[in-house]
Amino acid sequence: MSHFSIEFFPAKTDVGAEKLREVARRLGAVNPEFFSVTYGAGGSTRDRTLGAVRDVQALGYAVAPHLSCVGDSKAEIAELLDGYREMGIDRLVALRGDLPAEVTARSKELPYAADLVRYIREHSGDHFKIEVAAYPECHPQAASLADDVRNFVAKANAGANSAITQYFFNADSYFHFVDRVRATGCDIAIIPGIMPITNFKNLVRFSDACGAEVPRWIRQQIASYGDDSASIIAFGEEVITRLSQQLLDGGAPGLHFYSMNQAEPTLALWNNLGLPR
Ligand code: FAD
Repeated sequence: MSHFSIEFFPAKTDVGAEKLREVARRLGAVNPEFFSVTYGAGGSTRDRTLGAVRDVQALGYAVAPHLSCVGDSKAEIAELLDGYREMGIDRLVALRGDLPAEVTARSKELPYAADLVRYIREHSGDHFKIEVAAYPECHPQAASLADDVRNFVAKANAGANSAITQYFFNADSYFHFVDRVRATGCDIAIIPGIMPITNFKNLVRFSDACGAEVPRWIRQQIASYGDDSASIIAFGEEVITRLSQQLLDGGAPGLHFYSMNQAEPTLALWNNLGLPR
């Protein structure tokens, strides 16, 4: 079975929320397996995440809310788990999250994502299908790739069912990571996270923040377009279509699109790749 899913972040305003509903309607036409909705570490988007989850669910689509454990207490997580269960949600994306320096004093009851996965299983049994994060280029805070692979496998052993990767632009990093994980005997599905390229400044900002490497040839080519955003979008679409095809041809069991709350870039990739609808 192939897994094709799409990620949103919760909007900050009512206008943004209405726009997100419209984007969800448009993307819903391609029938993704689920939409996921991000969650601000320390509960900073708790209500907005819940609102977006309700909105997308009300349109008739399967939704997987993200949960992050750093900065949330077990009691706060338990409340979310029970609420989601009552709403009929049966899939979650379980993360550690990153707290800004000024709020690091918050709860550390669940310091790592593996602790969160273990807690979800303890609290909710097997009700939820649990996705966790994976980092083909190695998580920036990991002591080594070997450590990061070990910590990833610990999440599967704690009860995660499958994983979604951070985005990357080098297919070999994904295949290498999957090989390292498989060598440990861990066989959970690892779905590549796909970031459409539409805007140079945002791409560089996000990539610097999360440690994803933007290859020099991509930076150089985009820089050569200056303010010509149509050329940047066309080039980005070509590069990401090729990357996605290479991943699927090499055995990736699906794709997870970071939509950035825009319909067009994900729809273009979906069409170019001839993904199931
Ligand atoms: P973990 O798996 O806990 O790993 C974090 C780091 O700690 C890694 O370096 C790991 O190697 C290390 N580590 C793990 N266990 C141990 C241990 N026992 N001892 C020592 N080191 C250890 N962030 C949000 O805030 N909200 C979101 O909604 C969100 N969605 C995301 C969705 C996806 C698909 C991805 C890939 C990332 C997302 N993030 C989100 C970002 C994520 O929270 C950060 O990348 C965070 O830094 C790590 O989260 P994690 O769940 O991978 O943490």
